[in-house]
Amino acid sequence: MAAEIIDGKAIAQLVRSEVAADVADWVGAGNAPPGLATVLVGDDAASAVYVGGKQRASAEVGIEGFDHRLPQDTAHQDVERVLRDLNADPRVSGILLQLPTPPQVDGPALTEIIDPAKDVDGLTPISAGLLAKGRPGLRPCTPQGVMELLRRHDVTLAGAEAVVVGRSELVGKPLAALLLAEHATVTVCHSRTRDLGAVCRRADVLVAAVGRPGLVRGDWIREGAVVIDVGINRTEQGLTGDVEFEAAAERARLITPVPGGVGPMTIAMLLRNTLQAARAA
Ligand code: NAD
Repeated sequence: MAAEIIDGKAIAQLVRSEVAADVADWVGAGNAPPGLATVLVGDDAASAVYVGGKQRASAEVGIEGFDHRLPQDTAHQDVERVLRDLNADPRVSGILLQLPTPPQVDGPALTEIIDPAKDVDGLTPISAGLLAKGRPGLRPCTPQGVMELLRRHDVTLAGAEAVVVGRSELVGKPLAALLLAEHATVTVCHSRTRDLGAVCRRADVLVAAVGRPGLVRGDWIREGAVVIDVGINRTEQGLTGDVEFEAAAERARLITPVPGGVGPMTIAMLLRNTLQAARAA
């Protein structure tokens, strides 16, 4: 079987135009536009590119941007003050602290002071708890992006064997919870998993989120499986995922490429979360 390639770029664009239409309706009904505040501390070039991308994408769909850039030597307490001001600012629906932060700033701890109602990254303990309990809330963007790709391709999850490789707070764990909520039988694998290949071979839906090029081998893919590759690895051959793409595509029914698969979905989901937060305020 030669797999159909999931076009994450096209699906992300579709989501972005849907969000733009929904924002226009929301504002047309007399509401203030949703606002997304980004906080970037320091001058990490990659982080600046990410934040710039998020702000540009927000502007395109009619979300108001609050782009806070703080110097490299900003004290922890000063970043905390900015975040508390944003928590209190009614124009701001969503707040995102770009990680990593410089060493004197405890980024993960600061993430936790973001008002859960404005937690558009879905990474506060409250958001994680709501997800674990199956209650409505803001979900992390990349796992949501994966779910959206599966939904747009009508992948049946109820009763399916789903295997998630990777158990990070950012991707693997929340994704496992989202798949479980859709009634998949979920197995989460990690660096201590014995015989990863044998577990992967069971998967109707296999998601790799590790950050190791070629970790998931083509012959681990069950015939007709759906393969989602979250990994982003910079190699001499350029950007690659965690899955041996060519060999996997021979066996899979549906597969995401890297780049152009899950990657573009993350920002699209951030925009949708920001609108969701504005509506719930
Ligand atoms: P992480 O480093 O926090 O977590 C990696 C996970 O992989 C850990 O749970 C670890 O136990 C597991 N792991 C490590 N070695 C393993 C092995 N040999 N076998 C099985 N599991 C193993 O990474 P993360 O933040 O979850 O990101 C994972 C990948 O996804 C990275 O390549 C990252 O760049 C990418 N990513 C992409 C997006 C996107 O928008 N597409 C967003 C976030 C992360």
